[in-house]
Amino acid sequence: MRAVVYKGPFQVAVEEVPEPRLEADTDALLEVELAAICGSDLHIYQGKIAGVLPGTVLGHEFVGRIVEKGPLVPFPLGERVVGSFQVACGECAACRKGQYFACLRGGVYGFGLALGNLQGAQAKRVRVPFARHTLFPIGDLPAEEAILAGDILTTAYGGVRPFLAPGMSVAVVGSGPVGLMAQMVAHALGAGPVFAIDPEESRLEKAKALGSFPLNPKAEDPVARIRKATEGLGADLVVEAVGGEGEAFKLALRLAGPGGVVSSLGVPTVEKVDYPWLSAFSRGITLRSALANVPRWIGEVLALQKAGRLKGSFVFSHRLPLEEAPEVPPLPRAPGQQGGPGTLKQNRPPAGGFLPPTPLVYHGLPVCKVVCNKTRPRRGF
Ligand SMILES: [Zn+2]
Ligand SMILES: [Zn+2]
Repeated sequence: MRAVVYKGPFQVAVEEVPEPRLEADTDALLEVELAAICGSDLHIYQGKIAGVLPGTVLGHEFVGRIVEKGPLVPFPLGERVVGSFQVACGECAACRKGQYFACLRGGVYGFGLALGNLQGAQAKRVRVPFARHTLFPIGDLPAEEAILAGDILTTAYGGVRPFLAPGMSVAVVGSGPVGLMAQMVAHALGAGPVFAIDPEESRLEKAKALGSFPLNPKAEDPVARIRKATEGLGADLVVEAVGGEGEAFKLALRLAGPGGVVSSLGVPTVEKVDYPWLSAFSRGITLRSALANVPRWIGEVLALQKAGRLKGSFVFSHRLPLEEAPEVPPLPRAPGQQGGPGTLKQNRPPAGGFLPPTPLVYHGLPVCKVVCNKTRPRRGF
């Protein structure tokens, strides 16, 4: 079958790979309807993820139909489902506590040896382990909506929903796709004013379209503006959706008002960050920083999507057939490579090869999960 294969740093290709097969009674095989490229895929593409060997099929965001299943899979053949990017067994000590991200037998598709050595979903078919706990029926939801539930939308939901009460003021630091999803969730769940903080005007435009108040830290001080709007207090809930070296995290701590919660979703790239202990203590701040826990929240997310209250497909910018995946327009190139696809092209299959109908959705510019969150240094927070 055809699949997007990692060949080494800055090299991907669409190639023939062996069809996946059922390996356990709890496995299902899916015919992929839609897969997405994520910022994390870009880390692999750039060769930054140890343990992802050349030959790995990429992709962990997908929607598809069950075409084969083991006897312990409770869904009928033909069921249309979204996969959680996190694989969780549902039975280990961590899963039984609802902490699926810490599953002792878990993993992530297309992420190599350290994360379960599972082949990815940017392919005609994908094998899904522990299907009972990692697949979720989507009925006739559009694939471009449902696919968000398997990763970024549910990541955002888990960072907002447990901490939000109706009417609360919310500040979201970072208006990339996850930040925008967090704002959308806050609006849908009855937040009061929602402030979107980002140095890029194009992303603030998207935030504004959701009903958030755009706030560019290059133009004004977000702390002063939000205090002014909240009787001098600060936000009730601050969502940090940037990660990195902690600039946005520090700002998030300053934005929270008395009794406020700082919910950090961004992936840190540093071990430590200065924590303003006394200031947070005197304001009674609760800090929560965590990985997504998709199986915990995805049921609520899908219900809200089916009711039409969460619609996030506006974050996608490119729609491509699988065969064109290596030529996604903003893919960064290896150092020294001049603009064009370069080494990628050498790996393209011969013209006239089999073209599966599987389209590929790419989180691209202008609201670009890849470029905005991961590959460009963030400035302005
Ligand atoms: Zn992802
Ligand atoms: Zn488990």
